[in-house]
Amino acid sequence: MYSHKLPDPTKGRSATCLPAPEALLYIHTVKACPMELIDKLSILADAAKYDASCASSGAPKRSSESKSGLGSTNGMGICHSYTPDGRCVSLLKILLTNFCLYDCQYCVNRRSSDVPRARFTPEEVVTLTMDFYRRNCVSGLFLSSGIIRSADYTMEQLIRVAKLLREDHEFRGYIHLKTIPEADPALIAEAGRYADRLSVNIELPTDASLQTLAPEKQLVSIKQAMKTIYTGEQTVLNEPRSPKFAPAGQSTQMIVGADDTDDSTILHGAQALYGNYKLRRVYYSAFSPIPNSPKSVPLAAPPLMREHRLYQADFLLRSYGFKAGELFKGPGHLALDIDPKLAWALENREVFPLDLNRAEASLIARIPGIGLRTTERLVELRQQRRIRYEDLARMRCVLAKAKPFFITSDYHPQQAEVTSQMLYQQLRDRPQPQQMGLWG
Ligand code: SF4
Repeated sequence: MYSHKLPDPTKGRSATCLPAPEALLYIHTVKACPMELIDKLSILADAAKYDASCASSGAPKRSSESKSGLGSTNGMGICHSYTPDGRCVSLLKILLTNFCLYDCQYCVNRRSSDVPRARFTPEEVVTLTMDFYRRNCVSGLFLSSGIIRSADYTMEQLIRVAKLLREDHEFRGYIHLKTIPEADPALIAEAGRYADRLSVNIELPTDASLQTLAPEKQLVSIKQAMKTIYTGEQTVLNEPRSPKFAPAGQSTQMIVGADDTDDSTILHGAQALYGNYKLRRVYYSAFSPIPNSPKSVPLAAPPLMREHRLYQADFLLRSYGFKAGELFKGPGHLALDIDPKLAWALENREVFPLDLNRAEASLIARIPGIGLRTTERLVELRQQRRIRYEDLARMRCVLAKAKPFFITSDYHPQQAEVTSQMLYQQLRDRPQPQQMGLWG
């Protein structure tokens, strides 16, 4: 094991004035863990932060500039995720090891990367999880790993952690296990008996990009692992008395901007994954440049807004009944300055304005600025009386965006005759003004 001795983060400072990651680690571990375990935790929690396949990893920075604000989503080692019943839970997010046999060009843990390495034993992960859980710091575990020795061996180690937690410690908290695609399907099936959620990272959306940037991975194995998980889920649905299997379903992560794949290809790929394997979520992770990165990956990160637009479009696929083909005329990217629902509405002006007192609910939900909840409330309301303009104001929909696209009994939009180009100019998101430095 690489021995990476950290400086004592508390020297000369109290824990409360440490930056969030060190403070978090100090407060929750320093009294309880041997020093070596703290070293490993520091390395393996930091190495896990690149994985976006549990929910809040893709969330925007909510903390103050110093990253130490209350509710920060950036603290090393802890992430937030959502259970099937919608509860937000905090998870201990770590790698079992950041040693890896593979050399995926976009990954900081690739074998040719010059980073401090560490490896937990399964028992150490169990100790940490139980310790954090008992202190009420986390409700569960998100565990991933680099590939050591073989895919099967790595998967066995991950399963061992979950099995020890469930069987020896009767741990009932949430467990999200990363699945190694090339592992034996029997091992993946076993993982599903202990984990709430399984995820197989697809990483890059096409076989060609995988061959270029991660030649040791194959899209076919990744999809086969997804199919194994899907089959396990279906077995439980069809035979309710069979053992529980990953009740929170499966998810995946796609890295955006490490290659030149466009948004159209990414979202068509996501749509196929939702359709074929009933994934709960596809997470999009903007490629973040890594120190000493190889020439095959970009030096700069893509705009974070691109990741945000992909999440918005993904939501339209999962919840609004959109098809990827409706959001793109052909190959290309989503617009950065307008959201995908508004972009679709501007391209399809013949559908609008919609009479809210008569239109189908599925079409009302396609009006920019009107969400699913507002649509439900409008449909309930019109069963009692005619909808009026002030009802929308009361429901707090985004009227500025919605106004050109609907009619009520007392409102007809003047903007209905305005060209899409002019509406685009009026409604597009303008860059937030930036505070300039005093010295230029
Ligand atoms: S297999 Fe995973 S951990 Fe290993 S280099 Fe590839 S992405 Fe990184």
